[in-house]
Amino acid sequence: MQRLFLSSPHMSGKEQEYIAEVFQSNYIAPLGAFVEKFEQSIKEHTGASHALALSSATAGLHLALRVLGIGKDDIVLASSFTFIGSVSAILYQGATPVFIDSDESWNLSPQLLKRAIGELEKKPKALILTHLYGQMAKIEEIVTICKEEGIYLIEDAAESLGATYEGQQSGTFGDFGVYSFNGNKILTTSGGGMLVSHNGEWIEKAKFFSTQAKENFLHYEHEEYGYNYRMSNVLASVGVAQMEVLEERVSRKREIFELYRRELSGIEEISFMPEIEGSRGNRWLSTILFDKIDPLKVVKALERVNAESRPLWKPMHLQPLFSDALCFVDGSSQKMYSKGLCLPSPSSASNEELMRVVKGIQTICQ
Ligand SMILES: *Cc1c(COP(=O)(O)O)cnc(C)c1O
Repeated sequence: MQRLFLSSPHMSGKEQEYIAEVFQSNYIAPLGAFVEKFEQSIKEHTGASHALALSSATAGLHLALRVLGIGKDDIVLASSFTFIGSVSAILYQGATPVFIDSDESWNLSPQLLKRAIGELEKKPKALILTHLYGQMAKIEEIVTICKEEGIYLIEDAAESLGATYEGQQSGTFGDFGVYSFNGNKILTTSGGGMLVSHNGEWIEKAKFFSTQAKENFLHYEHEEYGYNYRMSNVLASVGVAQMEVLEERVSRKREIFELYRRELSGIEEISFMPEIEGSRGNRWLSTILFDKIDPLKVVKALERVNAESRPLWKPMHLQPLFSDALCFVDGSSQKMYSKGLCLPSPSSASNEELMRVVKGIQTICQ
């Protein structure tokens, strides 16, 4: 029985052909034609005006904060129910994170966002908003609040490439958006990220910082410090091949979610992550809540059928790292964390393989 992972790399078949082209050109590194092609393909697919290929999404979030001039003494609001990579750049910049809880959408609560802005003594500079597990947050309301309050919106779309709200792609609503191509995401370059924005000057500035902040001279001249965050041409060629199958991957991920929902519909004490009206998530991972059963029992049952499952992200406001951080919470994400699981959702899995998971859950819930 082959192990069924939460999400595994799923190649399109074109990757090696493009890698061969890279090797033929000898533009192995640092840059090359595929980096531009990859950026172009992201722009075309998402409708973002500008894109910058990077070594990771974490790097993208860091560059976004740096370009916006966020540093010491600045407050950055963030979704609490997310992965650490979403918020570590706040610490890199020496800024202060303030965490906002989720609502019934599982994503950031606009209500609590308003409360935080109203109650904080100092105006926050930015909000990092995660579209959790590939499902759209209440983006329209959140954009409105950020605009009214003059707060920069950075969309952490690391998990949500291909997800839409009213036809518009996640990552393109805010001032910046970030996608991840880490090994377990819906598409992968083995590791990588993309920063997008409608503001070309900001992306130019991010590019400058991402390549060691070298001034425009023949010799090496530096007025500011930068980072080594650019993506290599080899990995970008994998990205170009992966982008060709994004829509197929989204469809299959959605089918996987529908299969779980349909096959497990007889069990009353479970529920699934919702999809807000007007949106189409990419269902990167199928996620589930158990009302009565300890989810760790389900993890064990799924291990017996050689399937991986994991608790949902442990909210940031519950992390020891952030024990001193301010947060605006009502218990929502903590509750979901204690009841939830991510189920195996590899787009390459067959329905037969997924049925192993269904049966595993059924045996525990009966
Ligand atoms: C994966 C992930 C990141 C980090 O992406 P990397 O490309 O691995 O740096 C950030 N935020 C969220 C929500 C993620 O799931």
